[in-house]
Amino acid sequence: MIADASGVAGLNLLGAPPIPSRDLCAAAQAVHAVADPSGARAFLSEYGAREGDTLCFAGLAGGYSILNVSVHGDEVSLLTGTIPADGHQSGRALLEGFAAERGWIGARIFGGHRAIPLGRPRDTLARGRVVALGDAARQVFSAHGSGIGPGMVAARTLADALADGGRVEDYAVGWMRRHGGLFAAYDVFRRFSQSLSPMQLTRLMRSGLMDAEATAAGMRQRLPTASVGRLVGMPAALRRAGGVSGPLAAAGARMAGLLALYARYPRAASSRARWSAAVTALHGGAG
Ligand SMILES: Cc1cc2nc3c(=O)[nH]c(=O)nc-3n(C[C@H](O)[C@H](O)[C@H](O)COP(=O)(O)OP(=O)(O)OC[C@H]3O[C@@H](n4cnc5c(N)ncnc54)[C@H](O)[C@@H]3O)c2cc1C
Repeated sequence: MIADASGVAGLNLLGAPPIPSRDLCAAAQAVHAVADPSGARAFLSEYGAREGDTLCFAGLAGGYSILNVSVHGDEVSLLTGTIPADGHQSGRALLEGFAAERGWIGARIFGGHRAIPLGRPRDTLARGRVVALGDAARQVFSAHGSGIGPGMVAARTLADALADGGRVEDYAVGWMRRHGGLFAAYDVFRRFSQSLSPMQLTRLMRSGLMDAEATAAGMRQRLPTASVGRLVGMPAALRRAGGVSGPLAAAGARMAGLLALYARYPRAASSRARWSAAVTALHGGAG
Protein backbone atom coordinates (compact mmCIF):
# COMPACT_ATOMS: atom_id res chain seq x y z
CA MET A 1 0.00 0.00 0.00
CA ILE A 2 1.16 3.55 -0.74
CA ALA A 3 -0.14 6.39 1.45
CA ASP A 4 0.01 9.84 -0.12
CA ALA A 5 0.28 12.27 2.79
CA SER A 6 2.38 14.73 0.81
CA GLY A 7 0.17 17.76 1.44
CA VAL A 8 -1.56 20.30 -0.76
CA ALA A 9 1.37 20.73 -3.17
CA GLY A 10 2.56 17.15 -3.01
CA LEU A 11 2.50 14.12 -5.28
CA ASN A 12 -1.27 13.89 -5.91
CA LEU A 13 -0.96 10.16 -6.54
CA LEU A 14 -4.72 9.75 -6.99
CA GLY A 15 -4.73 12.34 -9.79
CA ALA A 16 -7.27 14.68 -8.18
CA PRO A 17 -8.24 17.79 -10.17
CA PRO A 18 -6.53 21.09 -9.26
CA ILE A 19 -7.97 23.02 -6.32
CA PRO A 20 -9.91 26.12 -7.44
CA SER A 21 -8.15 29.30 -6.26
CA ARG A 22 -11.23 30.40 -4.28
CA ASP A 23 -10.75 27.24 -2.20
CA LEU A 24 -7.20 28.13 -1.18
CA CYS A 25 -6.60 29.97 2.08
CA ALA A 26 -3.30 31.85 2.24
CA ALA A 27 -2.27 31.39 5.87
CA ALA A 28 0.68 32.75 7.80
CA GLN A 29 1.93 32.43 11.34
CA ALA A 30 4.76 34.19 13.17
CA VAL A 31 6.12 34.79 16.63
CA HIS A 32 7.65 38.23 17.22
CA ALA A 33 9.45 39.75 20.17
CA VAL A 34 7.52 42.30 22.22
CA ALA A 35 9.64 45.44 21.79
CA ASP A 36 7.59 47.63 24.13
CA PRO A 37 5.70 45.82 26.96
CA SER A 38 3.68 48.92 27.91
CA GLY A 39 2.57 49.27 24.27
CA ALA A 40 1.50 45.62 24.28
CA ARG A 41 -0.48 46.13 27.50
CA ALA A 42 -2.17 49.23 26.05
CA PHE A 43 -3.12 47.27 22.90
CA LEU A 44 -4.64 44.44 24.95
CA SER A 45 -6.56 46.76 27.27
CA GLU A 46 -8.02 48.61 24.26
CA TYR A 47 -9.90 45.36 23.54
CA GLY A 48 -10.51 44.32 27.14
CA ALA A 49 -8.04 41.44 26.75
CA ARG A 50 -5.29 40.12 28.99
CA GLU A 51 -1.95 38.48 28.40
CA GLY A 52 -2.55 34.89 27.25
CA ASP A 53 -5.92 35.69 25.63
CA THR A 54 -6.27 35.25 21.88
CA LEU A 55 -7.76 38.32 20.22
CA CYS A 56 -9.43 37.27 16.97
CA PHE A 57 -10.17 39.94 14.37
CA ALA A 58 -12.53 38.49 11.75
CA GLY A 59 -13.36 39.89 8.32
CA LEU A 60 -10.37 42.26 7.98
CA ALA A 61 -9.73 41.00 4.44
CA GLY A 62 -12.97 39.40 3.27
CA GLY A 63 -15.66 37.34 5.00
CA TYR A 64 -13.31 34.37 5.37
CA SER A 65 -10.34 36.01 7.04
CA ILE A 66 -8.90 36.23 10.50
CA LEU A 67 -6.02 37.80 12.34
CA ASN A 68 -5.28 36.29 15.75
CA VAL A 69 -3.04 38.06 18.25
CA SER A 70 -1.82 36.51 21.47
CA VAL A 71 0.76 38.02 23.84
CA HIS A 72 2.77 35.70 26.08
CA GLY A 73 5.45 37.38 28.20
CA ASP A 74 8.03 38.91 25.89
CA GLU A 75 6.60 37.30 22.74
CA VAL A 76 3.54 37.92 20.58
CA SER A 77 2.06 35.22 18.37
CA LEU A 78 0.29 36.24 15.13
CA LEU A 79 -1.84 34.02 12.88
CA THR A 80 -3.65 35.10 9.72
CA GLY A 81 -5.63 33.57 6.87
CA THR A 82 -7.34 35.08 3.81
CA ILE A 83 -8.59 34.06 0.35
CA PRO A 84 -6.47 36.11 -2.11
CA ALA A 85 -8.50 34.85 -5.11
CA ASP A 86 -11.37 37.03 -3.86
CA GLY A 87 -9.16 40.09 -4.35
CA HIS A 88 -7.82 40.32 -0.81
CA GLN A 89 -4.26 40.58 0.43
CA SER A 90 -2.55 37.34 1.43
CA GLY A 91 -2.36 36.16 5.02
CA ARG A 92 1.35 36.91 4.95
CA ALA A 93 0.81 40.53 3.80
CA LEU A 94 -1.90 41.01 6.43
CA LEU A 95 0.40 39.69 9.15
CA GLU A 96 3.44 41.70 8.08
CA GLY A 97 1.40 44.90 7.69
CA PHE A 98 -0.16 44.47 11.14
CA ALA A 99 3.25 43.94 12.76
CA ALA A 100 4.90 46.83 10.88
CA GLU A 101 2.17 49.29 11.93
CA ARG A 102 2.59 48.57 15.65
CA GLY A 103 5.71 49.88 17.30
CA TRP A 104 5.32 47.55 20.28
CA ILE A 105 5.82 44.52 18.01
CA GLY A 106 9.53 43.85 17.54
CA ALA A 107 11.63 41.54 15.40
CA ARG A 108 10.29 38.26 14.03
CA ILE A 109 11.63 35.21 15.88
CA PHE A 110 10.19 32.57 13.55
CA GLY A 111 7.24 31.98 11.25
CA GLY A 112 6.07 30.76 7.88
CA HIS A 113 3.25 30.80 5.37
CA ARG A 114 1.57 28.54 2.83
CA ALA A 115 -1.78 27.55 1.39
CA ILE A 116 -4.42 25.53 3.20
CA PRO A 117 -6.77 23.56 0.91
CA LEU A 118 -10.43 24.25 1.66
CA GLY A 119 -13.41 22.75 -0.15
CA ARG A 120 -15.00 19.39 0.47
CA PRO A 121 -12.90 16.26 0.90
CA ARG A 122 -11.74 14.50 -2.23
CA ASP A 123 -14.44 12.11 -3.46
CA THR A 124 -11.84 9.39 -4.00
CA LEU A 125 -9.63 8.60 -1.01
CA ALA A 126 -8.36 5.22 -2.23
CA ARG A 127 -7.75 3.47 -5.52
CA GLY A 128 -5.89 0.23 -6.08
CA ARG A 129 -3.02 0.23 -3.57
CA VAL A 130 -2.95 4.02 -3.10
CA VAL A 131 -4.67 6.08 -0.40
CA ALA A 132 -4.64 9.83 0.25
CA LEU A 133 -4.57 11.36 3.72
CA GLY A 134 -4.57 14.84 5.23
CA ASP A 135 -4.24 17.93 3.02
CA ALA A 136 -3.57 15.62 0.05
CA ALA A 137 -7.13 14.33 0.52
CA ARG A 138 -8.50 17.77 1.47
CA GLN A 139 -9.42 16.40 4.89
CA VAL A 140 -9.38 19.92 6.30
CA PHE A 141 -12.08 21.35 8.54
CA SER A 142 -12.44 24.29 6.25
CA ALA A 143 -14.60 26.52 8.46
CA HIS A 144 -11.34 27.38 10.23
CA GLY A 145 -8.71 25.78 8.01
CA SER A 146 -7.69 23.07 10.48
CA GLY A 147 -6.12 19.95 9.04
CA ILE A 148 -3.87 18.60 11.77
CA GLY A 149 -6.49 16.71 13.79
CA PRO A 150 -8.44 15.50 10.72
CA GLY A 151 -5.26 14.11 9.15
CA MET A 152 -4.45 12.20 12.32
CA VAL A 153 -8.00 10.84 12.54
CA ALA A 154 -7.74 9.73 8.90
CA ALA A 155 -4.43 7.98 9.60
CA ARG A 156 -5.99 6.20 12.56
CA THR A 157 -9.00 5.20 10.46
CA LEU A 158 -6.65 3.71 7.85
CA ALA A 159 -4.53 1.90 10.44
CA ASP A 160 -7.62 0.45 12.14
CA ALA A 161 -9.12 -0.69 8.82
CA LEU A 162 -5.92 -2.50 7.86
CA ALA A 163 -5.40 -3.96 11.35
CA ASP A 164 -8.92 -5.40 11.16
CA GLY A 165 -7.97 -7.21 7.97
CA GLY A 166 -9.75 -4.69 5.74
CA ARG A 167 -8.66 -3.13 2.46
CA VAL A 168 -7.85 0.48 1.61
CA GLU A 169 -11.45 0.88 0.42
CA ASP A 170 -12.63 0.24 3.98
CA TYR A 171 -10.65 3.29 5.09
CA ALA A 172 -12.23 5.42 2.36
CA VAL A 173 -15.78 4.26 3.06
CA GLY A 174 -15.30 4.45 6.84
CA TRP A 175 -13.87 7.97 6.81
CA MET A 176 -16.36 9.35 4.30
CA ARG A 177 -19.42 7.92 6.04
CA ARG A 178 -18.28 8.96 9.49
CA HIS A 179 -16.60 12.33 8.86
CA GLY A 180 -17.11 13.37 5.23
CA GLY A 181 -20.58 14.84 5.73
CA LEU A 182 -19.45 17.04 8.61
CA PHE A 183 -16.54 18.39 6.58
CA ALA A 184 -18.59 18.98 3.43
CA ALA A 185 -21.41 20.58 5.44
CA TYR A 186 -19.11 23.00 7.23
CA ASP A 187 -17.51 23.81 3.90
CA VAL A 188 -20.91 25.06 2.73
CA PHE A 189 -20.83 27.40 5.73
CA ARG A 190 -17.27 28.44 4.82
CA ARG A 191 -18.36 29.33 1.29
CA PHE A 192 -21.30 31.28 2.71
CA SER A 193 -19.09 33.21 5.16
CA GLN A 194 -16.55 33.92 2.42
CA SER A 195 -19.19 35.94 0.55
CA LEU A 196 -20.09 38.17 3.51
CA SER A 197 -19.11 41.82 3.79
CA PRO A 198 -17.83 43.13 7.16
CA MET A 199 -21.28 44.69 7.75
CA GLN A 200 -23.07 41.39 7.07
CA LEU A 201 -20.59 39.52 9.24
CA THR A 202 -21.23 41.95 12.10
CA ARG A 203 -24.99 41.58 11.67
CA LEU A 204 -24.72 37.79 11.69
CA MET A 205 -22.62 37.82 14.86
CA ARG A 206 -25.00 40.23 16.59
CA SER A 207 -28.15 38.38 15.52
CA GLY A 208 -27.53 35.55 17.96
CA LEU A 209 -27.52 32.91 15.21
CA MET A 210 -23.80 32.43 15.77
CA ASP A 211 -24.16 32.08 19.52
CA ALA A 212 -21.55 30.70 21.92
CA GLU A 213 -22.86 27.14 21.51
CA ALA A 214 -22.73 27.21 17.70
CA THR A 215 -19.27 28.79 17.76
CA ALA A 216 -17.95 26.27 20.28
CA ALA A 217 -19.33 23.38 18.20
CA GLY A 218 -17.56 24.75 15.13
CA MET A 219 -14.30 25.11 17.06
CA ARG A 220 -14.63 21.48 18.22
CA GLN A 221 -15.36 20.37 14.65
CA ARG A 222 -18.80 19.12 15.59
CA LEU A 223 -22.38 19.97 14.65
CA PRO A 224 -24.25 22.29 17.02
CA THR A 225 -27.05 20.67 18.99
CA ALA A 226 -30.61 21.86 18.36
CA SER A 227 -31.71 22.41 21.97
CA VAL A 228 -35.26 23.63 22.63
CA GLY A 229 -33.97 27.00 23.86
CA ARG A 230 -31.99 27.57 20.69
CA LEU A 231 -34.90 26.57 18.44
CA VAL A 232 -37.28 28.88 20.30
CA GLY A 233 -34.91 31.83 19.85
CA MET A 234 -34.26 31.05 16.19
CA PRO A 235 -37.10 33.04 14.51
CA ALA A 236 -36.15 36.25 16.35
CA ALA A 237 -32.46 35.71 15.58
CA LEU A 238 -33.28 35.15 11.89
CA ARG A 239 -35.22 38.43 11.84
CA ARG A 240 -32.27 40.25 13.44
CA ALA A 241 -29.93 38.78 10.82
CA GLY A 242 -31.95 40.53 8.07
CA GLY A 243 -30.78 39.83 4.51
CA VAL A 244 -28.21 37.28 5.68
CA SER A 245 -30.89 34.97 7.07
CA GLY A 246 -32.15 33.70 3.68
CA PRO A 247 -28.75 32.57 2.37
CA LEU A 248 -27.92 31.15 5.80
CA ALA A 249 -31.13 29.12 5.94
CA ALA A 250 -30.44 27.85 2.41
CA ALA A 251 -26.91 26.89 3.46
CA GLY A 252 -28.36 25.06 6.48
CA ALA A 253 -30.67 23.02 4.25
CA ARG A 254 -27.78 22.09 1.96
CA MET A 255 -25.68 21.11 4.97
CA ALA A 256 -28.41 18.73 6.17
CA GLY A 257 -28.64 17.19 2.69
CA LEU A 258 -24.89 16.66 2.54
CA LEU A 259 -24.83 14.91 5.91
CA ALA A 260 -27.40 12.44 4.57
CA LEU A 261 -25.51 11.88 1.30
CA TYR A 262 -22.12 11.25 2.90
CA ALA A 263 -23.68 8.74 5.32
CA ARG A 264 -24.43 6.71 2.17
CA TYR A 265 -21.02 7.10 0.51
CA PRO A 266 -21.04 4.21 -1.99
CA ARG A 267 -18.72 1.29 -1.47
CA ALA A 268 -18.81 0.38 -5.16
CA ALA A 269 -16.64 2.67 -7.30
CA SER A 270 -19.16 2.23 -10.13
CA SER A 271 -21.80 4.11 -8.08
CA ARG A 272 -19.51 7.04 -7.23
CA ALA A 273 -20.12 9.21 -10.31
CA ARG A 274 -23.83 9.46 -9.48
CA TRP A 275 -23.09 10.11 -5.81
CA SER A 276 -20.48 12.77 -6.72
CA ALA A 277 -22.94 14.52 -9.02
CA ALA A 278 -25.55 14.64 -6.25
CA VAL A 279 -23.01 15.99 -3.76
CA THR A 280 -21.72 18.58 -6.24
CA ALA A 281 -25.27 19.78 -6.90
CA LEU A 282 -25.82 20.39 -3.18
CA HIS A 283 -22.37 21.60 -2.20
CA GLY A 284 -21.58 23.70 -5.25
CA GLY A 285 -17.91 22.68 -5.61
CA ALA A 286 -16.09 19.63 -6.93
CA GLY A 287 -14.57 16.94 -4.73
C1 LIG B 1 0.08 29.25 8.92
C2 LIG B 1 -0.72 28.00 9.10
C3 LIG B 1 -1.35 27.78 10.30
C4 LIG B 1 -2.11 26.63 10.49
N1 LIG B 1 -2.70 26.42 11.70
C5 LIG B 1 -3.38 25.28 11.92
C6 LIG B 1 -3.93 25.01 13.20
O1 LIG B 1 -3.82 25.80 14.13
N2 LIG B 1 -4.61 23.84 13.37
C7 LIG B 1 -4.75 22.93 12.35
O2 LIG B 1 -5.37 21.89 12.56
N3 LIG B 1 -4.24 23.17 11.13
C8 LIG B 1 -3.54 24.31 10.89
N4 LIG B 1 -3.01 24.54 9.65
C9 LIG B 1 -3.22 23.54 8.58
C10 LIG B 1 -2.29 22.38 8.81
O3 LIG B 1 -0.97 22.87 8.90
C11 LIG B 1 -2.39 21.38 7.66
O4 LIG B 1 -3.74 21.06 7.41
C12 LIG B 1 -1.63 20.11 8.04
O5 LIG B 1 -0.28 20.42 8.28
C13 LIG B 1 -1.72 19.07 6.92
O6 LIG B 1 -0.91 17.98 7.26
P1 LIG B 1 -0.42 16.98 6.13
O7 LIG B 1 0.50 16.04 6.83
O8 LIG B 1 -1.57 16.44 5.38
O9 LIG B 1 0.38 17.88 5.09
P2 LIG B 1 1.72 18.71 5.31
O10 LIG B 1 1.79 19.28 6.68
O11 LIG B 1 1.80 19.66 4.15
O12 LIG B 1 2.87 17.63 5.21
C14 LIG B 1 3.18 17.03 3.97
C15 LIG B 1 4.66 16.67 4.01
O13 LIG B 1 4.98 15.90 2.86
C16 LIG B 1 6.22 16.36 2.37
N5 LIG B 1 6.32 16.01 0.94
C17 LIG B 1 5.73 16.59 -0.12
N6 LIG B 1 6.07 15.98 -1.26
C18 LIG B 1 6.90 14.97 -0.92
C19 LIG B 1 7.59 13.97 -1.66
N7 LIG B 1 7.51 13.90 -2.99
N8 LIG B 1 8.35 13.09 -0.98
C20 LIG B 1 8.44 13.15 0.37
N9 LIG B 1 7.81 14.08 1.13
C21 LIG B 1 7.05 14.98 0.49
C22 LIG B 1 6.19 17.85 2.61
O14 LIG B 1 7.50 18.39 2.61
C23 LIG B 1 5.56 17.92 3.98
O15 LIG B 1 6.50 17.80 5.01
C24 LIG B 1 -2.25 25.69 9.44
C25 LIG B 1 -1.61 25.91 8.20
C26 LIG B 1 -0.85 27.06 8.04
C27 LIG B 1 -0.17 27.29 6.72
